[in-house]
Amino acid sequence: MISALMPTFNRADLAFERGEGAWLYAADGRRFLDFGAGIAVNALGHGHPHLVRAIAEQAARVMHVSNLYRIPEAETLAERLVAHSFADSVFFCNSGAEANEGMVKMIRRAQAKSGHPERTRLLCFNGAFHGRTLGMLAATGNPAYLDGFGTPLDGFDHVPFNNMNAVRAAITAETAGIMIEPVQGESGVKPADPRFLQELRAACDEFGLFLGFDEVQTGMGRTGRLFAYEWSGVTPDVMSLAKGIGGGFPFGAILATEAVAVHMTPGSHGSTFGGNPLACAAGNAVMDVLEGEGFLARVQAVSGGLARGLDGLVTRHPTVFSERRGIGFLLGVKCVLPVAAVQAAAAAEGLLCVTAGDNVLRLVPPLVVSEAECDEAVAMLDRAAASLEALATREQEAAL
Ligand SMILES: *Cc1c(COP(=O)(O)O)cnc(C)c1O
Repeated sequence: MISALMPTFNRADLAFERGEGAWLYAADGRRFLDFGAGIAVNALGHGHPHLVRAIAEQAARVMHVSNLYRIPEAETLAERLVAHSFADSVFFCNSGAEANEGMVKMIRRAQAKSGHPERTRLLCFNGAFHGRTLGMLAATGNPAYLDGFGTPLDGFDHVPFNNMNAVRAAITAETAGIMIEPVQGESGVKPADPRFLQELRAACDEFGLFLGFDEVQTGMGRTGRLFAYEWSGVTPDVMSLAKGIGGGFPFGAILATEAVAVHMTPGSHGSTFGGNPLACAAGNAVMDVLEGEGFLARVQAVSGGLARGLDGLVTRHPTVFSERRGIGFLLGVKCVLPVAAVQAAAAAEGLLCVTAGDNVLRLVPPLVVSEAECDEAVAMLDRAAASLEALATREQEAAL
């Protein structure tokens, strides 16, 4: 019989009772170092006192009022995001897919309202992940995700990642913009070449296209800068955020320049829940921490240490790992053995990680994780790799 909870996920048989910082505690008393962080969501870890208090206090004051009224918490958060980014204006929503849908709508509308209604198509990349709505399934373009859901929504063209000739060849009179993840997360932690991003910007300027960055995973300090685009020296016209922005509270945002946002007039887009006082209280609390003196510099330093630790791991266990990838706390280790086996062996040692495409083990710890905890994670992966090596040796001996 089917489970009451629809079986769309292969869930590990683990349930957690509480969390503290980078640690999760299972109902049976075991504790785990959480380098999955709810898939790069729990930026402040678990039970962060400032975030917990902000949410509790806001819930007691007023949780939701609708966007029919002014929401001071939303105005404050929007001003802060504008102050720290290329953007002039912000729309709040509830998830990554929804933020990307809004980003595509804004790009299309800005083209339509500035004399180019024929420019409706978005150029996307092989290996992209933009979410699971009908629109974002088409933008993602992964056949496995599209299976059984009918004709993909029209309007998305795909080209190879990091290939500028392919991009230029694919631009047509109907192209409205380009949508890209500065680091492809789900498909294997693959950073875009900074030069490629610069050339995308130049092509957008040349052809009158809008550049949209999907920073749902890379944004909010994940890569060691507040936004990943800062590493490339390129600014997009529109950017989507979600995952870390609420620190675990479901939340998303679309940031845009005035040239794009000016066309989003009253009635052009909406959300019942988007940017309600409770979500914005969470968002402001996350921003308080990320804005703190030296916070992002610390993320860079600690994540750099973790990356070096993983490099050492790859050197020590060439039959288990082949390569370390990524930036900041968006790191991946490409596995030689099946990544599911490596993930299970890590969990057996007390380390939770997530997988990504291309047989990659993804490490996305809370941004507040300590150097000692990163060392512990590497030690756990060392033991996990050693146990997999021992298993492989036993299997080889048994086969002789
Ligand atoms: C997770 C993710 C999404 C989808 O976010 P949801 O909140 O699950 O809808 C979109 N884009 C990127 C880059 C992501 O990592």
